[in-house]
Amino acid sequence: MHSATHSKPLLLLQGAQVFAPGPLGTQDLLIGGGRILGLGPGLEVPRGLVEVVDARGLLAVPGFIDGHVHLQGAGGEGGFHTRTPELMLGEALAAGVTSVVGCLGTDHLTRSLAGLLAKARALEAEGLSTWILTGAYAVPPPTLTGSVEQDLLLIDKVIGVGEVAISDPRSTQPTLEALARVAAEALRGGLLAGKAGVVNLHLGDGKVGLDPLFHLLDTTDLPPRLFWPTHINRNPRLFEQGLAYARKGGVVDFTTSTVPAFLEAGEVACAVGLKRMLEAGIAPEQITFTSDGQGSLPAFDGQGCRCGLAVGRMASLHEALRASVREQGVPLEVALQVVTTTPASVLRLPGKGRLAEGFDADLLLLAPDSLEIHTVVARGRRMVSEGRALAKGTYELG
Ligand code: ZN
Repeated sequence: MHSATHSKPLLLLQGAQVFAPGPLGTQDLLIGGGRILGLGPGLEVPRGLVEVVDARGLLAVPGFIDGHVHLQGAGGEGGFHTRTPELMLGEALAAGVTSVVGCLGTDHLTRSLAGLLAKARALEAEGLSTWILTGAYAVPPPTLTGSVEQDLLLIDKVIGVGEVAISDPRSTQPTLEALARVAAEALRGGLLAGKAGVVNLHLGDGKVGLDPLFHLLDTTDLPPRLFWPTHINRNPRLFEQGLAYARKGGVVDFTTSTVPAFLEAGEVACAVGLKRMLEAGIAPEQITFTSDGQGSLPAFDGQGCRCGLAVGRMASLHEALRASVREQGVPLEVALQVVTTTPASVLRLPGKGRLAEGFDADLLLLAPDSLEIHTVVARGRRMVSEGRALAKGTYELG
């Protein structure tokens, strides 16, 4: 039955309520050659050429973009046995993610940019759209070719640098000058390569918070849009600094992977934080959600004692979107922006993040009230149907 799916060159989704992410009402979507070929009411296509899917009663939205995932695994901060596993395709599909950006973290020695690049290529071969950040926590950043600028220029998949750690005991305690140099290289490489050249800053719970970033903006000509600080919701003080940074024109990134103990200790839940930022007048064009998938998290027992480690899940991205809409009352078309159009713009991903003619056919069909994922289409290929995976990663069995 599934081979029939691939025997016809076109796919027609009929009668979905389209959120592009703006609401467009009931429309048909015609897909072929990996692109959206048509978007409109009552599209007519010769029957022999097209696989028709009845999408009435479902919402069609752009596939999610997850801009910060440890594709190759991460962790290792409690010894070698605490290194986290690699991402499997199924975890991205279950989260509705069709575009993903990989990065390294604390460990760039037993993990490598070459390995990350290979993993990104593997996931691309399995059907996702993938990119990577060069560098890691460390400053000066590890690179593939000898410099951040050259990585951006010479390696197609490299679109920025990160996650560069500040305000964290696990950072390399970079000076402002060293940070400015990394950012300048990213800016120059991005300009010359026609890429975002974004600097993804990892913020820890340390004393200085976003102060180094504010200082760079005050004392250099580096623009706020160059930086993309993440984990901005990890404590209330950082959240307030994130608000101030957004007021200066910057884009802030919330991390959706969490554990209950973090939320009890003051972490701002993504859905709550999104609502608060919007109420404070920050535009959805300045807010993104990413999962930090495959990063390590502490696990706690019932008494609140650290009893082990857990792994960040990409599924948390979808859960945070649902909570934003269903629990915080953020309109769907607004909440969608933080996982579609805004990351596409920050990361400068052409053809991504929007349902429109000529754009890549990355889309989801969602149940209207629960927002559960019914169908995933990535680059025109149906990967999930009726909540069931049609595509499996190479080593995903069963
Ligand atoms: Zn981080």
